[in-house]
Amino acid sequence: MIKKVLIANRGEIALRIVRACHELGIKTLCVYSEADEQSLHVQLADEAICIGPAASNLSYLKADRILSAAEIANVDAIHPGYGFLAENADFAEQCERCNIQFVGPSSQTIRDFGDKARAREMAAAAKVPTIPGSQGVIRDVNEAVKVATKIGFPVIIKAVAGGGGKGMRVAHNKVTFQREFVNARNEAEKAFGNGDVYLEKFLENPRHIEIQILADHHGNVIHLFERDCSVQRRHQKLIEEAPSPFLSDDMRKKMGRCAVKLAQAAKYRNAGTIEFLVDKHGDFYFIEMNTRIQVEHGVTEEITGVDLVKEQLLIAGGAKLNYEQKDIKILRHAIECRVCAEDPGRNFAPCPGEITLYYAPGGHGVRIDSHVYGGYVIPSHYDSMISKVITFGRTRELALDRMDRALREYLIRGIQTNIHFSRAIIRDPIFREGKATTKYIEEFLNRVPRDMYITTNDRQP
Ligand code: ADP
Repeated sequence: MIKKVLIANRGEIALRIVRACHELGIKTLCVYSEADEQSLHVQLADEAICIGPAASNLSYLKADRILSAAEIANVDAIHPGYGFLAENADFAEQCERCNIQFVGPSSQTIRDFGDKARAREMAAAAKVPTIPGSQGVIRDVNEAVKVATKIGFPVIIKAVAGGGGKGMRVAHNKVTFQREFVNARNEAEKAFGNGDVYLEKFLENPRHIEIQILADHHGNVIHLFERDCSVQRRHQKLIEEAPSPFLSDDMRKKMGRCAVKLAQAAKYRNAGTIEFLVDKHGDFYFIEMNTRIQVEHGVTEEITGVDLVKEQLLIAGGAKLNYEQKDIKILRHAIECRVCAEDPGRNFAPCPGEITLYYAPGGHGVRIDSHVYGGYVIPSHYDSMISKVITFGRTRELALDRMDRALREYLIRGIQTNIHFSRAIIRDPIFREGKATTKYIEEFLNRVPRDMYITTNDRQP
């Protein structure tokens, strides 16, 4: 059993981990940058150590400083959260060498799935369907043209090291393909220090549906059903829900079984997410596996009643899974909106600064995960997400009605947010009918008048 954990992250996920630890009686050490001293996670942790200036590459990405803090405070585990070092195989390996439990899979697993072309091969080997595409990495442009023509346009060129919606380019025909291919390679080299790319058929109107799994160190693997994350802006998720309004029970079972099969084949352990694209016929294809807790894990917690972060900590401590597959049931519907400090009126530009007034919604069926409060100053150095609001209820309609009223209750002054934008989506008939695909936001922005989703920061009626 783990006794003390270092939380190598910030913001709402750091607070989420602190909360899970406190319920389990595990001591917490938060590391933080100079910009985060006032953040709620730092204040609620048992101990906190400043590890550097605001810039992430001088603090949250500094493995050596984090490991020094771990040594000084004598922790037995490190929880990486998501982002930063969560999928950095070298960091996980350093933890292994220092005999500190990395709360996640082994460094080798992270390395394998971190290469998206390799992950595709692993999925194919486990007989999990993948999108038609190149066999691994292609470096030669002429060879790439041949393969793209064979796959059939449009194709998507993807960086093997890509993530967070970055490192993808779509080519609609042979003429644009050559240029996009060269640009994609250069861009990937610059952004990820690795220019390798692979090709996939570009699916026109898919849904993004992912399966949550949990695996212990004793060979037990279960899935906790799906999350539908089709509502995305620039390949970044904005609204997530579970269960998916699109899946039949039969498809749900098939996808769950595939996810478990892949995790077993990879000897996976801890929490992970297997992401699929699903076409209008209901055919599903693996796109990648995320070897960490996801931002949207809370919707799964609310539909199943399983605390995923606690399970992660228990698994890392060597415990057997608390659940068998038959124990996991969909008890209700849940939906999450990501609240970001950004201005939809200025093309969603980040909006850091002081929150002068803050009131978060509450009441029956509402969960808020957030590290901010009135008087908090949002630093400009990090992701713009400041809060997650999850609503749940017996039916999808109830969860949606609750989200509508929860978003209406939010009161955030001093900065702009996307709350009004999210509320316009929740009230949109196409979304309510469960028809959103990954094209939805693009189409929404073309269809809906701007003043329907741009706010002057006033409370909405
Ligand atoms: P990342 O690792 O950056 O999150 P993913 O491979 O998970 O990248 O893809 C993110 C999103 O990009 C998907 O949810 C989907 O909207 C879009 N996408 C990725 N691959 C394809 C594809 N082959 N066809 C259509 N859309 C795709």
